[in-house]
Amino acid sequence: VAKEQGDGLYHFYDSLIENQLAENMQLENDLKSALHGGQFTLYYQPKIDASSGGIIGAEALIRWMHPDFGVVSPAKFIPLAENSGVILDIDEWVLREACRQNKAWQDQGLAKFPVAVNISARHFYQSNLLPMITRILEETGLAPQYLVLEITEGTLIRNVEYGVRVMEDLRKMGIHISMDDFGTGYSSLSQLDRLPINEMKLDRSFIQGLMEDSKKSSIVRAVIELGHHMDLRVVAEGIESPDELKYLANLECDQFQGYFFSRPLPSGEFSAFVRHWDGSALAI
Ligand code: C2E
Ligand code: MG
Ligand code: MG
Ligand code: MG
Repeated sequence: VAKEQGDGLYHFYDSLIENQLAENMQLENDLKSALHGGQFTLYYQPKIDASSGGIIGAEALIRWMHPDFGVVSPAKFIPLAENSGVILDIDEWVLREACRQNKAWQDQGLAKFPVAVNISARHFYQSNLLPMITRILEETGLAPQYLVLEITEGTLIRNVEYGVRVMEDLRKMGIHISMDDFGTGYSSLSQLDRLPINEMKLDRSFIQGLMEDSKKSSIVRAVIELGHHMDLRVVAEGIESPDELKYLANLECDQFQGYFFSRPLPSGEFSAFVRHWDGSALAI
């Protein structure tokens, strides 16, 4: 009986995996036409300054409106796009669209703050990255200091020497660099002082349940101190509750991002959010 059950379970998982593979194959295939089909759109999530309570930036986050599946999360399709190489076209589109939108907000007098764009590992190592960014800034008229590139720790594992040089070149152009998902990928702290970054973003996994977990809170406290010691801004991502906010504010975290303030919003809703924001969520 046990064997039968075992076999049944095996077949169950087998078909689950098969379905998953088939779905991924379809998504990967559909990705090719999604860009030309205008199925991608950017959402924006505000970044809040701890001392003023003001909005001091926005992170652009891609959404795929799939004709059959509805909204597909980037956590699902970005890895597929990296496999097939379509990520290069997607990242370029995201960069251009985010820069265009930020310049439009500036021209409308909405706000003057940097927009942060996530760059995939694969794109980071492309030799045409800098010329492409230069061209996009020229085309859109956005000044380089209003662009931030978010690069995950894991990106650097492939080639730290090269990565540092790319980041230095980007910094020379006036672009700021943020180390995304800090604490989840790049294990060697000894290299941290070599990295020409402006900011580190504490991964949400460290924020979740922070107050109840004394190990987590010690890590977060240490990372914030480390960051400040190296003259970096420290941003906490994934803040969902006033308690988490209060706790991180006490640890002197510099900037906050999370559902507690706002979910990522389509551009129109985001600009309405900015117009109505009075920083009162920080008065805790
Ligand atoms: P990320 O860059 O670390 O972005 C933060 C993710 O956390 C976003 O998920 C955001 O919607 C979510 N988030 C923000 N605040 C909260 C919160 O309070 N609670 C919870 N539960 N989640 C929160 P999203 O938009 O699904 O993106 C997932 C990942 O996909 C991003 O992680 C990033 O690595 C990648 N990604 C997103 N957009 C792009 C893009 O345009 N290009 C590339 N290459 N990657 C992207
Ligand atoms: Mg990010
Ligand atoms: Mg992140
Ligand atoms: Mg993250």
